[in-house]
Amino acid sequence: MDYELSARERAWRDEVLEFIAEHVDEELAAESRSRGNEGRGPRAQRFLQALKDRGWWGLAWPEEFGGLGKTAIEQWIFIDEIETAGAPMLPLTVTSVAPTIMRIGSEVQKREWLPRITAGEIDFALGYSEPEAGTDLASLRTRAVLDGDEWVINGQKMWNTMAHTATHNWLAVRTEPEAPKHKGISMMIVPMDAPGVSVQGIWVWPGLRTNALFLDNVRVPRDHLIGERGMGFYYAAMALNFERLSIGSIGMARRHFRAFVATVRERVVDGRPLREDPWVRERLARLQVEIDAARMLGFETAWTLDQGRMPAAESSMAKIYVSELSQRIADTGCEILGLNGQLHAEDPGALASGRMQWLYRIAPMLAFGGGTNEVQRDIIGFMGYGLPRK
Ligand SMILES: Cc1cc2nc3c(=O)[nH]c(=O)nc-3n(C[C@H](O)[C@H](O)[C@H](O)COP(=O)(O)OP(=O)(O)OC[C@H]3O[C@@H](n4cnc5c(N)ncnc54)[C@H](O)[C@@H]3O)c2cc1C
Repeated sequence: MDYELSARERAWRDEVLEFIAEHVDEELAAESRSRGNEGRGPRAQRFLQALKDRGWWGLAWPEEFGGLGKTAIEQWIFIDEIETAGAPMLPLTVTSVAPTIMRIGSEVQKREWLPRITAGEIDFALGYSEPEAGTDLASLRTRAVLDGDEWVINGQKMWNTMAHTATHNWLAVRTEPEAPKHKGISMMIVPMDAPGVSVQGIWVWPGLRTNALFLDNVRVPRDHLIGERGMGFYYAAMALNFERLSIGSIGMARRHFRAFVATVRERVVDGRPLREDPWVRERLARLQVEIDAARMLGFETAWTLDQGRMPAAESSMAKIYVSELSQRIADTGCEILGLNGQLHAEDPGALASGRMQWLYRIAPMLAFGGGTNEVQRDIIGFMGYGLPRK
């Protein structure tokens, strides 16, 4: 493959950078940091509206669904630059669920859901995991039974992260209890305001909220089952593949690394500038090389998609490398900056605006979000190298 951007891709990157210069500032980044995942603040709303006004909401969607028909590489350039700038990201509704509906939904379902997603009316929480079904998703127990023209759903989901702000849930449910476990699952869209849906908050280490979701005789219309009945396991795998394309971007860690390097340039410890310490210089150089390598892995994943192939092994490689590199950057940052590097941004003694401690707390989530890294290594083995499945 050719790692050089074409003239068209360079022009697109310039357009994205111009947009960022106009719409992203430190206040927007600070608002996003302070809100965590408790919904979007007014600045983030304005930013996302500006994206929509440009038609960049579904930028890699085909034109027939209201997108711009950009290539996967163009989408990668966009995500890389937007994340590096610290702007709010396109939600997984747009980058994971919608592309799946485009491929598996009936014509009626595409006409029903895609325009509403484009209009920003719909925001999904992703309801795959259950207390006894994480990696082994095919063991999920939430049941949906057909009653006349409605599905009746009962069960519990775990780690349903955006459930407290979402309008709908993209829910994996068991519809065929007699079938082999991988073949008995279907994907359903469940409105969050349907009677019988309840949400309980769970706060996790970086200070973010996720949720347990309870479904008690929840009724949804029959055509809320998306695609074919019993194919949900494969549809969830497809959506997770798209999800990994977003998680496998080094943009966030790259942004924090830049701020960290800026602090190292200025910082003097015991009368000696940190920038003159050979050990510090060697560590920074090593991380910079790894960041560039991570960007190339993301680029290759996008390129594979543009060749018409599903980059299952490539997206797993990028996801593992980015998540583990983010942890290495945070470890090194906290080590080099010392105790002040571990303080929160609001603390007057904090160094690098508290970014290294933040990365230290958030990076482990990247290692299991969208499927754990152990499982990604298995995927690389059997999809990338044809090794037997475990
Ligand atoms: C903060 C947070 C947010 C999340 N958000 C969502 C969300 O929005 N929607 C959603 O559906 N899920 C979400 N998840 C769930 C997440 O995807 C799962 O935690 C993850 O898939 C692992 O499942 P598990 O926790 O059940 O661990 P387990 O599957 O029990 O795994 C435990 C450990 O065993 C290893 N392991 C398991 N099986 C194998 C195997 N076959 N080979 C090798 N190693 C193996 C795993 O890699 C892991 O290290 C979230 C989780 C957290 C903590």
